[in-house]
Amino acid sequence: MAGRKRSSRRLTGSRKRNRRAREKRRRRRLTFASACSLFAILLLFVSGQLDWENPGGSAAWLGSSAAEQGGSSGKDDDTFPENSGGTEESPPSAQQGDASGGKDDGNAGESLLTVTYLDVGQADCTILQCGDRTMLIDGGGNSGARTVLAALEALGVERIDYVVATHSHEDHIGGLDEVLARCPTENIICRREESTTKSYLDFLREAEACGARWIVPEPGLKFALGDASFLLLAPSEEVFEKANNCSVALLVTFGKTRFLFTGDAEAESERAMLELGLSLEADVYKAGHHGSSTSSTEKFVEAVDPVYAVISCGAGNEYGHPHSEVMSRLEEHDVQIYRTDMMGTVTIVSDGKTLNIRTQKPAAQGQEHYPARNRAFYDFFASYLLQGSRRLNCNE
Ligand SMILES: [Zn+2]
Repeated sequence: MAGRKRSSRRLTGSRKRNRRAREKRRRRRLTFASACSLFAILLLFVSGQLDWENPGGSAAWLGSSAAEQGGSSGKDDDTFPENSGGTEESPPSAQQGDASGGKDDGNAGESLLTVTYLDVGQADCTILQCGDRTMLIDGGGNSGARTVLAALEALGVERIDYVVATHSHEDHIGGLDEVLARCPTENIICRREESTTKSYLDFLREAEACGARWIVPEPGLKFALGDASFLLLAPSEEVFEKANNCSVALLVTFGKTRFLFTGDAEAESERAMLELGLSLEADVYKAGHHGSSTSSTEKFVEAVDPVYAVISCGAGNEYGHPHSEVMSRLEEHDVQIYRTDMMGTVTIVSDGKTLNIRTQKPAAQGQEHYPARNRAFYDFFASYLLQGSRRLNCNE
């Protein structure tokens, strides 16, 4: 009996050892399988196969899922944390497509701000609409008047509350005489310059004839545009020598979103704006002087800290706009760039928290589509994986 018992104990002990060994092997296999899976996932991320901004990838699924669930934005980039500085909410999203309408972002019934950066070739024209209020910043060149009038009609504009004529150059005020002649206008914000070009004189004549109130721009002046408001930042008296530096600059605020316009203001005017000591932070920066290297200085871009930049320029323009220095600078600051020469008219609709961006033409091949803040997150995540960092802090 004693022998059998011993034998039984020995067998029991042997079974236990075998079981432990089996469990050990199973754990090892599980660990190995988990490691393989994790490695495969990491590989996919690093190689870009799990690019969440790729419409055919996971982002499309996330976006449509949010839309189906009646999410407030239905956009494809609300899933990732960001540190936007100017806005506290989820990052503004970008969508490529047609430039029409733009009021279907899930916030129907609430006030929206629609900003239309019109493709007027090598010139400038932006239409802002908030509720039943409209502002026109520049009116394109002489040859752009028809385009501007057609756009105003298509957008249902019957009256303009503010026309901002940034400065006297033809590519900004050339089309305004026809606009002022045909569209009732309440106010004109413009600094009277000594220019005697035909375009400027035509503009002055119509400005006087239309009976609009003439407002002399001064930094610090603030106006309402429906539920939005705008603050003048330039021009400052000390930089008046150059016409470009006479450009009216304004910061438009709607809810937590901000849009900056600086006309053709150059480095001297940018410095004067910085010296105002006001926050210049904006989600969308219309790159000064059509993306010329005379503007968008390092300190200015740093202070504006935009998520998006819109560059209004003509395809193959004789000035080489936008200049490569500016493009590099914006890219270094993780700014996503929209160009009217490549994408046509760019329309941005703000609900006060998020931005919905549409372009008339799809972006050119090779253009990156994902919003800048997500790109920063992606870059950081990729470097985290590659460098084996211990901590993943999305706010860095
Ligand atoms: Zn210009």
